[in-house]
Amino acid sequence: MTPDQESLSEFHWLLEVLQTIDVGMLVVDLEFNVVAWNGFMENHSGIAPQDALERNLFDVFPDIPRDWFEHKSRTVIQLQNRAFTTWEQRPYVFKFKNNRPVTGTAEFMYQNCTFIPVANIRGKVESLCIIVYDVTDVAVSKLELQKANQQLKYLSRTDRLTALFNRGYWEELLEAEFRRQQRANRPTSLILFDIDHFKPFNDTYGHTVGDDVIRKVAEVTRETVRNTDLAGRYGGEEFGIILPDTPPQEAVLLAERLRERIEEMIVDSHDQRLQVTISLGVAGYDSELNDHNQWIDKADQALYLSKETGRNRVTLA
Ligand code: GH3
Ligand code: MG
Ligand code: MG
Repeated sequence: MTPDQESLSEFHWLLEVLQTIDVGMLVVDLEFNVVAWNGFMENHSGIAPQDALERNLFDVFPDIPRDWFEHKSRTVIQLQNRAFTTWEQRPYVFKFKNNRPVTGTAEFMYQNCTFIPVANIRGKVESLCIIVYDVTDVAVSKLELQKANQQLKYLSRTDRLTALFNRGYWEELLEAEFRRQQRANRPTSLILFDIDHFKPFNDTYGHTVGDDVIRKVAEVTRETVRNTDLAGRYGGEEFGIILPDTPPQEAVLLAERLRERIEEMIVDSHDQRLQVTISLGVAGYDSELNDHNQWIDKADQALYLSKETGRNRVTLA
């Protein structure tokens, strides 16, 4: 072979590789007209080279966010530097249907892309090559892991019966709030409450009816507190609410409203229409408290007073 034939043969060989490689490759000129389009691009888009070549990329892929793409490309061309996009920043640049059997849960192909400036022999950048990697497998497993972790976190913080925060997590929140109070003295209050005469109630109607009552009390609590308040199930039929940025006098108003709503609440359970009341104790944070347990004690003492003085009432510590 002559040197010319040799280099031509090498070129052919290279093209063959680019055609069949399992990575997307396309080249556009500075006006974003497609000048090269490999087999991967054809197979996943369903667009044959003759329908892509010499056409404007934004006509071939109307879904590409044009401003973003142009800005990214210009930076690459001007700085003569590569740039990357990951699926985490942008799930895909080219919308391809996901047709992998294993990762069939994904609707589209997740992609990482590399933008490469391509210079001519004189060193002038005249086109842009974009390499597309299919990272659907990685993305799907990472997203699933994130979802499972979130679910796990939710479960570890949530009380099964009421879907309020469970005691462990609620106490963590209280502890954090206590520490925050030590730094920034914003008035935060704590409410503890307990269902009145619940034991005889349980003994009469049974545990499952009792559970329905606890669930309903939690539901009314959730509807009564504000988004920023933190309600948890502290024990069997005992509950706690942390009210950030709320002075005790305001917390008393909320406690009173909750008391009234529970008093009016009717629980339909197993052919019974039942009513219960609650007793509440309110305690504002004060700097004499050594830790969050003392804060709970303070609210608990107020709750105890509500019980002592007739139940179905609110006492401020
Ligand atoms: P008081 O007005 O003084 O609070 O009287 P009480 O009968 O409610 O007394 P106490 O708070 O000590 O009783 C708690 C009862 O709550 C004991 C138990 O029968 C019931 N209990 C605790 N946890 C659960 C639960 O998860 N489900 C049901 N159904 N009952 C529970
Ligand atoms: Mg009780
Ligand atoms: Mg109790």
